[in-house]
Amino acid sequence: MKNKYDVLVIGGGPAGALAAKTAAEKGLSVCLVEKRPAIGAPVRCAEGIGREALAEFTDPDPRFISAEMTGAAIVAPDGFTMRLESAMAGNKVGYILDRKVFDRELVWRAADAGADVFVKTRATAPIRDGKKIAGAHLEFCGEKRTVKADVVIAADGVESKFSKWCGIDTTVPVREIMSSAQYVLTDIDIDPQATIFYLGNEVAPEGYLWIFPKGKRAANVGVGISGRKSGKGHRAKDYLDRFVKRQFPDGKAIECIVGGVSVCEPLQETVADGLLIAGDAARVVDPLTGGGIYNGMFTGRLAAEVAAKCIGNGNCSKNALMPYDAAWRASKMGRTIARNYQIKEFLIKLSDEKLNDIIHSLAKVNLKEFSTLSLIKEITKANPKLMLELGALAASLR
Ligand SMILES: Cc1cc2nc3c(=O)[nH]c(=O)nc-3n(C[C@H](O)[C@H](O)[C@H](O)COP(=O)(O)OP(=O)(O)OC[C@H]3O[C@@H](n4cnc5c(N)ncnc54)[C@H](O)[C@@H]3O)c2cc1C
Repeated sequence: MKNKYDVLVIGGGPAGALAAKTAAEKGLSVCLVEKRPAIGAPVRCAEGIGREALAEFTDPDPRFISAEMTGAAIVAPDGFTMRLESAMAGNKVGYILDRKVFDRELVWRAADAGADVFVKTRATAPIRDGKKIAGAHLEFCGEKRTVKADVVIAADGVESKFSKWCGIDTTVPVREIMSSAQYVLTDIDIDPQATIFYLGNEVAPEGYLWIFPKGKRAANVGVGISGRKSGKGHRAKDYLDRFVKRQFPDGKAIECIVGGVSVCEPLQETVADGLLIAGDAARVVDPLTGGGIYNGMFTGRLAAEVAAKCIGNGNCSKNALMPYDAAWRASKMGRTIARNYQIKEFLIKLSDEKLNDIIHSLAKVNLKEFSTLSLIKEITKANPKLMLELGALAASLR
């Protein structure tokens, strides 16, 4: 480990990996630090990613694809199932990844491009040069180190502390933390090529329950509920256990994870002097779906591109780095987050009865594709009264 790099990346998830790879490919000296002893483990993710989203970054290598999806289903609170045919469901949840392999592969590619990678290395505080963030204090396999850098990219995930230490407000309101629990279940009867989403207050208040197949008789089965709905006896794991007992009484859990997903609006600002914030640390998870793998890779890559320009120009001030913040907000990803935040806020207020009505009416429609946007368009068409409740948002979808 050197004492000084052009770019220091904190976190070895998809955001950090893409940041490190991109910066190294641009000829910068790069250090990526990951506090865990192994990249990609333990997995805290349902591992779903869209076909087109993945294609933007890599070919679907069979080594990190657990299953390819051809269909999807939504189960209403009253148990009614709306099935989506392969042609329209495929693009939304194209693949279920094996993130233990996928995350490793991404970091491997960063190392191949020339980045120095250190696991079991935790950033403990920023180094400051006046107002500027000029690197980080690290604990490297138990030893204290300091690494200076022209730009630090904080990609330290949902539990991100680095940006907070740099003075940025990263608070997520409790109601906007999706409290989640998931089992990898084996020995279960499922359609191995279709994802299933269960909705309703009994199953997942202000969230949803998912079955994401990982093979012929295995799946990620998990649930996310609003933090404000969580409490003793009704935590995410309690909802999950009740569902599994009912649906898969003979299933065997070979892995259990719990974790939080932020479904809030992104940080007000994702740059400071010498600092860029990417991925979950920037709160750029899709607030409706909880998906953040693509958004992490997208912002990680963009952060490194802007860092490279600013380092080249010898100016890494907040103003100079600001095009990163502006670019991701103006991107399709940024616009989708803004729109889906409004949709999420609307949907979580719906009663189970209303959700039943909507899903029943949707099942009668011949959907051309299974995307959030097309679903919402059809919902408003089939339920004209909702147009009024959705107000400006509905108008923007027309
Ligand atoms: C239950 C659950 C299900 C999910 N399902 C999906 C899904 O199906 N599809 C989807 O797209 N998204 C899903 N997500 C979200 C997805 O996992 C994240 O959005 C994605 O991992 C974000 O990537 P990231 O690189 O920003 O953060 P992470 O992948 O969390 O990586 C951050 C890394 O930083 C490291 N780190 C933290 N602090 C420090 C420090 N101080 N020093 C050094 N390293 C540090 C962490 O150990 C971690 O490895 C799910 C999340 C959960 C919890």
